[in-house]
Parts: sequence; structure tokens; C-alpha cells
Amino acid sequence: MTEFTKLGLSATTLKAVADTGYTEATPIQASAIPVALAGRDVLGIAQTGTGKTAAFTLPMIDRLGSGRARARMPRALVLAPTRELADQVAENFAKYAKGTKLSWALLIGGVSMGDQVALLNKGVDVLIATPGRLLDLFERGKILLTGVEMMVIDEADRMLDMGFIPDIERIFKLTPPRRQTLFFSATMPPEITRLTTQFLKDPTRIEASRPAMTADTITQYVVRIPSSDPKAKRTALRALVGREDVKNGIVFCNRKSEVDIVAKSLKTHGFDAAPIHGDLDQSLRMKTLADFRSGELKILVASDVAARGLDIPDVSHVFNYDVSHHADDYVHRIGRTGRAGKLGQAFMIVTPSDDKSLDKVLKLIKMDPQELTLEGIDFASIKDRPRTEDAKGRGRSRSDRPRPIPKSDNVASMEPIARAAPKAEEAASEEAPRRSRSRRSTRTEASEVATAAPTVAVEAAPATAEPQQPRREHARDAKKPEQRKEQPVQAARGGFGDDVPAFLRRPVIFSD
Ligand code: ADP
Ligand code: MG
Repeated sequence: MTEFTKLGLSATTLKAVADTGYTEATPIQASAIPVALAGRDVLGIAQTGTGKTAAFTLPMIDRLGSGRARARMPRALVLAPTRELADQVAENFAKYAKGTKLSWALLIGGVSMGDQVALLNKGVDVLIATPGRLLDLFERGKILLTGVEMMVIDEADRMLDMGFIPDIERIFKLTPPRRQTLFFSATMPPEITRLTTQFLKDPTRIEASRPAMTADTITQYVVRIPSSDPKAKRTALRALVGREDVKNGIVFCNRKSEVDIVAKSLKTHGFDAAPIHGDLDQSLRMKTLADFRSGELKILVASDVAARGLDIPDVSHVFNYDVSHHADDYVHRIGRTGRAGKLGQAFMIVTPSDDKSLDKVLKLIKMDPQELTLEGIDFASIKDRPRTEDAKGRGRSRSDRPRPIPKSDNVASMEPIARAAPKAEEAASEEAPRRSRSRRSTRTEASEVATAAPTVAVEAAPATAEPQQPRREHARDAKKPEQRKEQPVQAARGGFGDDVPAFLRRPVIFSD
């Protein structure tokens, strides 16, 4: 447990931190901030929802100090894999840098370039960007990266994944070698760690948790059903989403077409649900997310575009409609709940055809989620009518078609693919050409989606496991008692008093 005042931050930055209501630094903050302030490179790993954003933003603000912004020459660059995450990081930056003269610009695709260019011309200290739009603006001569003193790569393992690596390599080459570089993520597969060596100089590796360790605040359930039929899966999903304690939740699907179908199906059955994925218009993506954040929308049905980094403090549940093909994605998906010491629940629907993917997830997280049985559903009698064109592979959205699997597993040695493939930013999350995409696509007639569900009885929900450590509520909620009442999942189990929440306590492993 470390007070922020002991980390070497400036008085101005400490004041901004105090204004947010935080008193103790989380383990990743306590460990990474002094190292970053000393100008060293950092590879920081910590569970989802444990404050990695402040761990890089606060030292960045102090390192940039009182220097001056020059037109088109930013001094720091933060890269994130999705537009929504970049936007959120920018909001954090604005909050922490409010007492300084530092200026910033958010460069993301899907929105007009005009305002972004105007800001760049005026000169900004910090760019917070998705790689695609950053490179677009660079190619148009609107930015020079030769003045970059500090680079942050959030969700670093994702950014070094195949969809992004060519753009990331290119961006790094445009920055001066003497820059300071910080990488952060909750997951860091060994093959990606190897890639980090080409970007980091003698980094300090800081592990506030083992890579891919799921947050302690999330109670995880596996819900096995005997049928892989989409209609059976949707029936199971409704039984889960309809549980009494679901205040709000995110349903993750592997494919964008499935996101649309599931959202539509939930709506037809009276749930307040809306889809979000990379094929939707950016303004709609932003609006849907804002509605979900504000509590206006109860169920967000999402592709992996929403799996990384998004910090919506009060998400009570995450539902994996599909088992993620990439085990790391599971950790990020469920990490949308149980943030900043709050409690959350995560359910994963598992069908007989998911055994392989499930194995990978269980091996990665090194724990066994509780098994939950859905009673009273006659899965054998539930059948979806397949569309004829499915058999021929038609009727899929373009992005759902299987993509070529690269021959080599060595991501770094791949031919640049970003220019031939969609831009990396467009390739974000489900947009990225990943190694083992799902080759199946099952479409349903909208009319079938709308058919009435059999009545389902769900066995009494097992009590959420009590947290092993006393926890404290999130500071933001302390200011909103009326909201606290509505959050039995998180708050009722709190009673943290002066106790320190587990997410502030985890021991940290350093290695140089
Ligand atoms: P991560 O990037 O590790 O997933 P975030 O940076 O998004 O986590 O932070 C998760 C939540 O924790 C945010 O809502 C943030 O405001 C809150 N938070 C960050 N640092 C602290 C702290 N020291 N004390 C309490 N809450 C914090
Ligand atoms: Mg984060």
C-alpha cells in the first residue's frame, strides 16, 4: 500500500490525483511511476481494472513538464488499439493534466480530420492515437514524429499482434531512438514478449500480477449446454441475462454478424440491448457506448472491439456468448467487470464444439471457473433453421469471412500486411487478421431470431463467492450514494471501511 505522495510526482500532478479521490496508488502505479519518472523503459503487466492508465499518464505529465509544444511536432505519443480506448485515455489525460499547460490531441479514425489537423498545426504536446489515423496524418505531412520523447503503447501485446505490427514498426521508426518507451497490458504471451525487445531499451519488467491473471474481483462461471445450435445458445444467453442480479452487462460474440443477430434477438425478447462492432458507423459506436456508460442502455452486445481497456466502472456482468478463440481475449473480455476493486460476474456459454478453445482459456488463466447448470431448458428440441447459402459460405459479412492463415507463426518475420489488408486501426480487435479466425459462420433468418423462446427455469443462482480480501468502494462512487444503492453486486459486499482493497495490495515483481 503506497501513498501517491511517495512516488516522486510533482505537486500539480498530485493535486490532480487527489481531486479524483484516489489516496493509495495501486501496485502497478506504485512500481511503475518511479521507474518511468527516472526515464527508464517499462514493460508493465497488471490485471484488468487496476489503474494502468494512471501508471503511464502521471509520469508522462511530469516528464513533459514545462517544455513547449511545437507545430506538428508532438513530444509524446500514446497508441491504443481501438478508437474508444484512445478516446478514454485522452479523457484520463485531460483529467490528470488539468493543472498543467500541456496540450493534447486525439487522433482516431471514423471522425473528420479537420479538427485534428487544426490542433496539430497549432502544436500539441501529446498525441493519443490509433495507428491507422496517425499514419494517415503522417502521410499527409501533418505530423513529424522526430520530436517524440516518450511513447506509450497501451494493450501492448495486442498492438504487437499481427494486425498492428507493421504499422507499429513503422511508427517506431519515425521516432528518435533516444525516446523513452512504456508498454502496458494485462496479458503478455511469451512470443510477444520476445517482440518487445526491438522497441524497448533495457526495460524494467514490472509484474503486479502474473500475465493473463484474471482480476480477483470477478467470479467466473462456465455454463455448459449440450447443443452448439445458435438458437440453443441464444436461449441459454437469455436465461443468463435475465437473472435477477444483472444490473447491466456486456455480451461478447466472436463474429460481427453474430453480434447483430444476438442483439436483435435480445431486443425481440424484451431486453434493452444494442450492438457494437467495427463495421458500425463511428458515431453510432460512440453513442451506443455512451448510452451504456450512462446506464441508459442495459446490455451491450459486442465484438472484441469492446474487449480491451474500456473502463466502465459499474458493469455488473460479462457474458461470453462464444468462447473466445484467443485465450487472452477472454481475460480482457471479462475484465470489463470487476474493475477498481468492485465485484463482477462473468459467464461463459460452452457448447460441445468449444472444447478446444475452452482448454486454451483454462490453461491460460490457471483456474477453474465454477460450473453452472441451466435447468428446465429442453436443448434437444431447440433447432435453428440453417440458411441454404450458409453451406456455400455466402450470406456472411465481408469481415466474417475466414481470412488467410499466415504460414509463419513468427509475427515479426511476416511480410508487411497492413497496406494490403485494412489499416491496422480498422483492423482493431475483431478487425485484425489474426492467426486462427473462426471458419464457421452460422446465419439465422431474422424472423427465426424473433420466434418466441421456450420458458426457461434457471436454478437458483449460486451466491457470488465472497471476496477473499476486504474491498473498498471505488472513490468515484463514494461521491454518489444514490448509485451505490443500485449496485448490490459491488457495493453490498464492500463494507471496506478503512481496509485496503485487494487490487491495491498485490505484491509486485520487478526484473531488469
Ligand atoms: P487498467 O488499465 O489497469 O485496466 P484503468 O486505468 O482503466 O485500469 O483503471 C481502472 C479504474 O480504476 C478506473 O476507473 C480508474 O479511475 C480507477 N483507478 C485508477 N487508479 C486508482 C487508484 N489509485 N485508486 C482507486 N481507483 C483507481
Ligand atoms: Mg487499460
